[in-house]
Amino acid sequence: VVKRMRGFGETIFAEMTRLANEAGAINLGQGFPDTDGPRSLLEDAARRLREGVNQYPPGPGRIELRAAVAADRGERYGLEHDPETEVYVTVGATAGIAASVLALVEPGDEVVLFEPMYDSYSAVIALAQGVRRPVTLRPSADDARYTFDPEELAAAITPRTRMVIVNTPHNPTGTVFTPEELALVARLCRENDVIALTDEVYEHLTFDGVAHVPLATLPGMAERTLSVSSAGKTFSVTGWKVGWVTGPAPLVNAVRTVNQFLTFSANGAQQLAVADALRGERDWVRAQRDALQAKRDRLAAGLAAAGFGVGRAQGAYFLMADIRPLGHDDGAVLARSLIHRAGVAAVPAQVFYADEREGRHLVRFAFCKRDEVLDEAAARLRSLG
Ligand code: PMP
Ligand code: GLN
Repeated sequence: VVKRMRGFGETIFAEMTRLANEAGAINLGQGFPDTDGPRSLLEDAARRLREGVNQYPPGPGRIELRAAVAADRGERYGLEHDPETEVYVTVGATAGIAASVLALVEPGDEVVLFEPMYDSYSAVIALAQGVRRPVTLRPSADDARYTFDPEELAAAITPRTRMVIVNTPHNPTGTVFTPEELALVARLCRENDVIALTDEVYEHLTFDGVAHVPLATLPGMAERTLSVSSAGKTFSVTGWKVGWVTGPAPLVNAVRTVNQFLTFSANGAQQLAVADALRGERDWVRAQRDALQAKRDRLAAGLAAAGFGVGRAQGAYFLMADIRPLGHDDGAVLARSLIHRAGVAAVPAQVFYADEREGRHLVRFAFCKRDEVLDEAAARLRSLG
């Protein structure tokens, strides 16, 4: 592999799922639900496959889905997008993120992002030969919510910055960025003429009444923001890989220029099914969000009973757990040994940091699993003593 990709190896999610499967362990590592999405969504896609929606969809996506995404963001966030020029369908959010970075970051350009950070960001910045500038999220002293130091962010964003990546709701910390936090990001982007790339794949999965605010809704941001989302988390169909990028036409067109040679187009039948679900399955999505909030509390209680220090998730479907109260100090070692000793797989959080030492004492557990699975995992962890 090319030099700039050396060191990336196998993704931690693939590795932990492989180890969990080999050992027959409960997999709270890779973030995917163990129940299906809405029945009508699955049947809609199956019917369309049988009815012959089996050839290439248009590269930018089926217009039905692009129109549905535009309508959905219009209704929920007040954002206006022309489906023809400002919405582009990708193979999951992953391809949307990759195409956006490859389309807009020149070699040597700096990209500011918040760590712990989702693994694909660093890889695509490296592919683009950009320079990663992480700003570390840390648990605040009063409520354990992960947040950043405004001065650190202000120091990181400079005229050398080409792009800032904002993931909210955030994987792995569960932080939902507040309007005030976003306002600072927005101001720094405007002042330094920086493009924002947002990863909003968990946009529907927020808890305790906390609202997701897209960065693009802040003053002066719609014209400089590419927003990425996907159907995988919203409808519990992570294997479908239907995602989308929205933003101003010139930026979306840059994404299109690159993406047409990465994947050309995304799955066709699933696009049509997702288009219908965005409007038709809103009740299902709300019920799923409420169910996940209860699962968060269920797993948090189980992890606390097992002796972990448990973080606070306002959104997404992960809990950060501090392993120091258990007498451990290396999450990578503990995560691998838990698979065999407890039959439970988690993800060592240090992989989400530029400097592994920042996250050495943390492991991430996914709670998007059936209640009985969460209970069994908690019981196994507790029995370790
Ligand atoms: N961004 C984040 C923060 C994620 O957690 C994930 C999925 N785990 C993705 C992007 C990738 O989304 P998709 O499966 O739609 O490619
Ligand atoms: N986003 C999922 C997670 O954080 C994993 C996706 C993947 O395996 N690439 O666990």
